[in-house]
Amino acid sequence: MPTFAPKAVKTPKTSRILGHIKGAKKGPTAIIFCGIHGNEMAGVKAMSQVINKINLLSQEIRGNLFAIRGNLAAQLKGQRFLDEDLNRLWTKERIEKIKAKEASTRGIEEQELLELHHLISDIVKVQSPPFYFIDLHTTSSKTLPFLTINDAMINRKFSSLFPAQVVLGIEEYLEGALLSYINQMGYVSVGFESGQHTDEASVENNISFIWLFLFFAGIVAEPNEIFLEGHRRRLVEAAQGTSNFYEITYRHQIKKKEEFLMMNGFESFEKVLKGTVLAKHNGKEIHARQDTVLFMPLYQKQGEDGFFLIRIIPKWALRASLFFRWIRLENLLVILPGISWNGPQKQALLVNTKIARFFTESFFHLLGYRKKIIDKNRLIMYNRERFAQTEMYRHEWWYDHRKSQY
Ligand SMILES: [Zn+2]
Repeated sequence: MPTFAPKAVKTPKTSRILGHIKGAKKGPTAIIFCGIHGNEMAGVKAMSQVINKINLLSQEIRGNLFAIRGNLAAQLKGQRFLDEDLNRLWTKERIEKIKAKEASTRGIEEQELLELHHLISDIVKVQSPPFYFIDLHTTSSKTLPFLTINDAMINRKFSSLFPAQVVLGIEEYLEGALLSYINQMGYVSVGFESGQHTDEASVENNISFIWLFLFFAGIVAEPNEIFLEGHRRRLVEAAQGTSNFYEITYRHQIKKKEEFLMMNGFESFEKVLKGTVLAKHNGKEIHARQDTVLFMPLYQKQGEDGFFLIRIIPKWALRASLFFRWIRLENLLVILPGISWNGPQKQALLVNTKIARFFTESFFHLLGYRKKIIDKNRLIMYNRERFAQTEMYRHEWWYDHRKSQY
């Protein structure tokens, strides 16, 4: 028998909290963001449906679930953003700057950021760990559903539970994404891109993803096997049975006022052959320089990323990286010329690429580092593992689960 039947709360469109469900028993805290981009409403629709259903199923709930609307002002206008992209503002420096501004001089997204920032801080302060953050998005092109994560082991283990593609390390290319900020707080955080913006299947994929997530995180007990298996199957089908880990090898950036036109008909995860014309940029044709896999081609006016290229990370490399991180290989690397710690806290490596040219970026990725370019010859490599609050999750069922071996 359920110990608690949560009440679904209907909230107006202008309300920041789409729903809050509080379990009778202690447990984890989940925070799900929907519509950080205002034209991506599949997450809002899916989340509302899940909240209603939780009420009907009235099953046992543990901990807390907060469903939060992202860019409220842009959602009301159906635009990705109004002044600037809310998912590119989340750096510590920028947040401090926004806080210091006079309220009347803040831009629309700056105000949105502050409200979300307060909410996140309050939840983390008051609620009990472990914390899980989910950010729901859709893309302008057709795509298989996929997860995006910063490559900390806790994220990798958790995301490998889902039957969908996982793309690592997008934060190296996107400055100021909300999930990167959450990651620096050390919590499990997963982005889910459920499909094309207005495709009905994007809502359905989100619903299946959310149910699986709530179950994996331990917020809902398994309602019944058939129900959950149905959602797992739905996602397997939508992902066409694929569930690889990818790394990004290239980002095609569009600067302000530049003209960019993606050639018609490309999809995310589509294989393209060397020489294929991918886009026109300022009137010039952009060709694929080698056989490659296309990722998130841009088919909307707003946005700074024309497309990405990705490649599958082989399973052996994923396993090797687990081992390297476990033995903390970087402690040996700093003996080598051209590699040193960036400071006494050992949170980052300073790499002189002229001297230490024998190591590629992919190698540092294996060790859990993300790069920040200082100049032509120098990189700072930040260690994601040192920020991660691994201890918080060590006793969760999925941490050592055989399925989450990556
Ligand atoms: Zn988005």
